[in-house]
Amino acid sequence: MEDNIYSWSYTKHKIFSFCRRKYFYFYFASKNGWKEYSSSLNRKVFVQKHIVPYKKWINNLLISSLRNIFLDTHIIKPEQLENQLKKTLYKSFLREKFNLLNNTHSQEQKLITPLKEIYFYNLPSSNVIYLSEKYLTNLLNTFNSDNKLIKILSEVPRQSKINTFKPSFFYLKKIKIWVSPHLAWFRNGKVTSINLYPETSLNNFNVLDWDLLSSINTLFWQNKFNINRINIETISTFLNIQKNSATNIYCKKNLKETIKFIENSFSTIHSCCSTSLGVYKQNYKKTNDIKKCSTCIFKQFCISEN
Ligand code: SF4
Repeated sequence: MEDNIYSWSYTKHKIFSFCRRKYFYFYFASKNGWKEYSSSLNRKVFVQKHIVPYKKWINNLLISSLRNIFLDTHIIKPEQLENQLKKTLYKSFLREKFNLLNNTHSQEQKLITPLKEIYFYNLPSSNVIYLSEKYLTNLLNTFNSDNKLIKILSEVPRQSKINTFKPSFFYLKKIKIWVSPHLAWFRNGKVTSINLYPETSLNNFNVLDWDLLSSINTLFWQNKFNINRINIETISTFLNIQKNSATNIYCKKNLKETIKFIENSFSTIHSCCSTSLGVYKQNYKKTNDIKKCSTCIFKQFCISEN
């Protein structure tokens, strides 16, 4: 609980801004819901939190496959990177598809029906798999359309690459800030970091967010290596499947503005809870914009409450 109270991430900010009650469900009511002795409500909220739309599933596969080959493979040509990515991505897809259709997930995952479309809309698994595979092909084509990015990645020497597999954090005074860098390397005293935002994430961001995301990552690298801002290049790559194109946004934002933004957001979120008295649902007000509720994953728990 403490960690949830004193930490901040861009995702937390987005969820809190969407609806404070949703934030409560997402970060507090679902906590430890996978444990054997959790209450039935706790468990249901936990399950609900972890059901993902199929596009998000594929987006995650693309990012993890790209990270894998970027770190593990000695690539020297752009075509090699494209081929390796295709192989690794389809292999991961087939493995996860098998698990999904045969219900062979690990004990913890078994609590979760992995895809929103199957869980909420009761669509047959085979239909969802078909849509997923189609989306995967389009997403891969969109990524491959960015020749410049592929060329840059394929030229990074192996020894310069930084392992970014786990989410990382840094501190801004007492605030723990979580980030999740996708690809990064350190070369000639300079860090370059790239985060990919595929199609569905695009819908959740407005243009103003784009630079902010790169800027938060810049703060992270500055903190980690204690180097001057001019030696850090952070890029957010937005993949637009409709247009089959990628847009690369470089961080140009003033970092002082970003720090102010984080501090303000953190203090608004933090004002809803009190560490001495605990966390109460009533302090996390429901949104007044009821249009949002139709898309909310927690509506079944929320509808009859105050
Ligand atoms: S159903 Fe509506 S009020 Fe309830 S958590 Fe979701 S968005 Fe908020």
